Amino acid sequence: MPAFKELKNLKIPGVNPPSTRCEDPNCPWHGTLRVRGVILEGIVEKTRAKRMAVIRHEYLYYDRKYMRYERRSKKIHAHLPDCIKVKEGDQVVIGETRPLSKTVKFVVLGIKGGV
Ligand SMILES: [Zn+2]
Repeated sequence: MPAFKELKNLKIPGVNPPSTRCEDPNCPWHGTLRVRGVILEGIVEKTRAKRMAVIRHEYLYYDRKYMRYERRSKKIHAHLPDCIKVKEGDQVVIGETRPLSKTVKFVVLGIKGGV
């Protein structure tokens, strides 16, 4: 399998490719990790683990009995490549990928609207 050292053009809406390179094999831009499935947005909640970030994703759930939406949210563990620097409170875009560990099935693609 070829190792992708070049920057891949993922064409994610609202996300620009990172300006720095990295050697992370599980990087969607520089590694061999493929993003497939859903693309979600969320807020960074914790970045304490190495190469991992906890993202809070908010969404609307339609309650049929009361015929209105309610706000729900879930925490998603996402892999954080070395080339993407985030801090708590950042709005990020994450993409679904293959399971990288027991709880990590998403990868951070970049800061929304940022570089
Ligand atoms: Zn990278």
